[in-house]
Amino acid sequence: MKSMEDKKGQGLKIEAVSDSFEQQCFDRKWVLKLNDQEYLNNFTCLICRQIVNSPVEINCPQHDNLEEALVVGESCLTQFLNTNNNSCPIQPHENCRYYKIKSMQKQISNLSVMCPRQFQEDIKTVDYRNEKEGQTVGMTICNFKGKLREVNEHLKNDCPLKFLNCWFKPFGCDHICPKYELEDHLTADMKMHFELVTKSFNSLQQTIQFYQVCIFLVFFFFFFKKKKK
Ligand SMILES: [Zn+2]
Ligand SMILES: [Zn+2]
Ligand SMILES: [Zn+2]
Ligand SMILES: [Zn+2]
Repeated sequence: MKSMEDKKGQGLKIEAVSDSFEQQCFDRKWVLKLNDQEYLNNFTCLICRQIVNSPVEINCPQHDNLEEALVVGESCLTQFLNTNNNSCPIQPHENCRYYKIKSMQKQISNLSVMCPRQFQEDIKTVDYRNEKEGQTVGMTICNFKGKLREVNEHLKNDCPLKFLNCWFKPFGCDHICPKYELEDHLTADMKMHFELVTKSFNSLQQTIQFYQVCIFLVFFFFFFKKKKK
């Protein structure tokens, strides 16, 4: 099964398109940054080994003899059932039984976390640093630390690492960059933006001229017709 980490790595580059925090379980290394390993062990998803999102407990009578709580993330379970012909993930059998653990969801949504985008930035920096032998590169751009339930709101509204479209997109600039880099782009490429606007203004003017000619022709036609009578 694909872990959350793989998906996250690919996810970050296309975040200008999609902003919401998905239903998948949470990256363990990310949550571990501000939490105790032992405490987090209670929240491990048995399917993906990450931190459960929307936890459910599997309670089929077939596993009555097992002592540990069988906790999995709801989306991991749904995915597992879909790809395994509805067979239970604990032991292969049909009619898997499970229920939501709301109290655990509450505990999880209260976990303290840092900004997930900054976390990904830090990972990249560490990789790079290893290559460059101890040189410090990269910096902290987003200082967000808060409850897990607040992360969505943060990513959507005030994260400086949020990817935005250039203001001149309607005129044809396809540049996408994090919020904090946008100002640089706007100033650095001012000439290009100016040209784009001029170009679309010119074509707008041509359109206006075309309509003016049309209106003139219509009037002329009617005028000419009247005179003929
Ligand atoms: Zn999971
Ligand atoms: Zn079962
Ligand atoms: Zn952030
Ligand atoms: Zn631009």
